[in-house]
Amino acid sequence: MPRYVGRFAPSPTGPLHAGSLVAALASWLDARVHGGRWLVRIEDVDRPRCVPGADAVILHQLAACGLHPDEPVVWQSTREAHYQAALDRLLAAGWAYPCACSRKDVLQALADAGIERPRHGELVYPGTCRGGLQGRAGRAVRALTARRTPEGWEDIAIDWTDRRLGAQSQNLTREVGDFVLKRADGLWAYQLAVVVDDAAQGVTDVVRGEDLADNTPRQIHLQRLLGLPTPRYLHTPLVRDEQGEKLSKQTGASAFDATRPVEALCAAAAVLDLHLRPAPLPDLLGRAVTEWQARWATGSGAAANHERRPGA
Ligand code: GLU
Repeated sequence: MPRYVGRFAPSPTGPLHAGSLVAALASWLDARVHGGRWLVRIEDVDRPRCVPGADAVILHQLAACGLHPDEPVVWQSTREAHYQAALDRLLAAGWAYPCACSRKDVLQALADAGIERPRHGELVYPGTCRGGLQGRAGRAVRALTARRTPEGWEDIAIDWTDRRLGAQSQNLTREVGDFVLKRADGLWAYQLAVVVDDAAQGVTDVVRGEDLADNTPRQIHLQRLLGLPTPRYLHTPLVRDEQGEKLSKQTGASAFDATRPVEALCAAAAVLDLHLRPAPLPDLLGRAVTEWQARWATGSGAAANHERRPGA
């Protein structure tokens, strides 16, 4: 068994809010309980959404809470050559292909096929460019989410186990479709960058917010295509506002108050079902480690993360 490596991987689109602190604390606690290392990676690939200085604010907020990374922080913007190398391998193996379609083209193709535009979630790409660009110019690069067989295309379904949510299943072909790895504007997609970096950093355990759970099958798919190990996953409960919406930077959730780390950590711990009384920071974190051990440290899902052949 490789030694436990966990990570917290915030996007610097603003300061950490109460919800992101839950993921940070959970990933830190799980690493501590397993005697592992805890890494921090700044996911700044989506440059237009990044806010200058937000990375420094995030690192300051973590430090104020006593959550110190065990290795130097990594910025994804320094790792583009690695994403390109992974993309080149997928292209060479035929598991990625260039796509010429604009969003308008995708909507038109879906309408032509009589498929209603989904109200929520992303569009399932109809596969227009799977067979080649037909003389059009490539814009984005997509991952193939179906298997080519002599009879045609076969769906790919991913079954995986989350330490909190239990058995999960997603038919990638139908529920997600061929997803973007490199965007038309040249930016790297989160799915590829996160898979390349988790593997490069030897991450054995991903602990992050539940809003990312439905991205996991895309990441497991890429891990398999690239011959990389699949980590264990634990998706933590989300913090909701009074309207029941998940807290997010996009909807203007405010920064947690890093001048009151004990209060912020107690609130984050409560979301994780750990009941802590306010105490000086080192005592509080020590208590949280004990509570985490009892509440969350058992059960692992990696062995159960496998691909299912639909109909099998
Ligand atoms: N950068 C992502 C976010 O802030 C999280 C990535 C991950 O934990 O896999 O939402």
